[in-house]
Amino acid sequence: MTGKRIEIESNVMDERRTTGYLEVKSFNPAEKTRNALKKLALWWGLSLVSILIPVFHFVLVPLFFFLGFFFARKGYKSEGQILNGETTCPHCGAEVKVAKGELSWPMTEICQGCARVVRMEPKA
Ligand SMILES: [Zn+2]
Repeated sequence: MTGKRIEIESNVMDERRTTGYLEVKSFNPAEKTRNALKKLALWWGLSLVSILIPVFHFVLVPLFFFLGFFFARKGYKSEGQILNGETTCPHCGAEVKVAKGELSWPMTEICQGCARVVRMEPKA
């Protein structure tokens, strides 16, 4: 699985800037719809199963039903998925790895060297 490489600029909320990159896989509308439907099916499945749980079903059924909408919508709005990425901490110069996950700007990652929050934005 290969993605698109995005150049990023990192900062720790001051004037110092470092550069890095993110490898991103973006979804096309058909994939987005499929992902959203999958999430919806998963949560609504749980919702159906919890109908069988006495008492708790009053809470769980509507909760899971709602979560289905919530995650499906969130997944649909997602700009893509991060496969990997790397930048340099502007404060201590340590290498900061970006974990796999959903792409949403600005990205943040905790520096393992100085525990500062490194904020990453696409390079203009
Ligand atoms: Zn650091």
